Amino acid sequence: MTAPAAPITQDVLTLPRRLPAGGPVNLVGLTREGLRAALVAAGTPEAQATMRTRQIWQWVYHWGVRDFAAMTNLAKDYRAALARHFTVALPEVVRREVSADGTRKYLLRVAGGHEVETVYIPEEGRGTLCVSSQVGCTLTCSFCHTGTQRLVRNLTAGEIVGQVMVARDDLGEWPVAGQPKVETRLLSNLVLMGMGEPLYNFEAVRDAMRIVMDGEGIALSRRRITLSTSGVVPEIARAATEIGCLLAVSFHATTDAVRDRLVPINRKWNIAALLDALRAYPRLSNSERITFEYVMLKDVNDSDDDARRLVRLIAGIPAKINLIPFNEWPGAPYRRSEWERIEAFADIVHKAGYASPIRTPRGEDIMAACGQLKSATERERRARPSAAATGI
Ligand code: SAH
Ligand code: SF4
Repeated sequence: MTAPAAPITQDVLTLPRRLPAGGPVNLVGLTREGLRAALVAAGTPEAQATMRTRQIWQWVYHWGVRDFAAMTNLAKDYRAALARHFTVALPEVVRREVSADGTRKYLLRVAGGHEVETVYIPEEGRGTLCVSSQVGCTLTCSFCHTGTQRLVRNLTAGEIVGQVMVARDDLGEWPVAGQPKVETRLLSNLVLMGMGEPLYNFEAVRDAMRIVMDGEGIALSRRRITLSTSGVVPEIARAATEIGCLLAVSFHATTDAVRDRLVPINRKWNIAALLDALRAYPRLSNSERITFEYVMLKDVNDSDDDARRLVRLIAGIPAKINLIPFNEWPGAPYRRSEWERIEAFADIVHKAGYASPIRTPRGEDIMAACGQLKSATERERRARPSAAATGI
């Protein structure tokens, strides 16, 4: 005789009542396997774990539900037990600013009281979320505001996914049961171009992107995710094989002497080493071109010779050159190239056969443009050096 199916309420009997040390575990940021393991560790029977994982995953990432009590396809007692062991928690929104052009910037507080910024850029029929991967950045590119921030730690996968969820909350973009699926997404693209070097926090970035790409949740296609790196050569191929996203590279100079100054990681992996890694990028194709980011700095890297050298260097690499007019920040040691200079540079690149869009600065009035991010608290600390020195 086969045993009757266990009643669903049995779950609760086997869930230990004691909380894990350190309090409830946040489910946001656990991969599917991680979530399953956490449920089993908390007493969910093995035989039910895959099903429960799927149900909870859909509540959290498809419907945007945070409250276990609202997960109505789970038994009431099981929901109560989940609430004793787990939370579904996002970074706290400390400040939200909206630019005249509609760009939104969120200042988020993460564990330990650290702060990061996330920027949402609305565009015609789509929108891009610029996500941070670290608090500050260990690298010190001389034109980047984030690079002047001293405080640094890697974000967890949960803190990276949490940025996407915070933005979806603010945009009101979670689906509503019984209502037709909205085809045009407000948050349709994601770029890892906020604070930090994503390839120096590879595992957390990878897990976060796998969660964001999962078809039973937020379901962003890998082709709508772009990871930008300053050139961490040994990790570049992994972005293709373990995430599958598109790649952007902060190139910014055409000689090692200048790139050493602008992007100091060049002293470790120079232009030749970087180009070798890009030529070997596993996903390289005409439909998945590499974006070369090139910040336009007046009289530093913006000459016609630079433009010609650039196209010679990248010959043979399916590429698009994204020219970024320098975004100034208080005390920055550079100036933005003149508009005519940027256009002349773009023209040379374009005539050589490469798309060469000039990136329109967005959200400058709220310091949300590329390279302007630095947590508000850090800015204030810097503005009051005497207070910082005395630890006030
Ligand atoms: N750390 C990664 C991703 C974040 S920066 C990287 O460096 O690629 C995103 C892009 O903005 C990079 O290309 C970066 O070089 C550029 N950037 C940094 N500061 C800038 C500034 N002040 N003005 C314009 N672009 C800037
Ligand atoms: Fe870090 Fe990128 Fe800024 Fe360089 S440009 S300091 S790698 S965030």
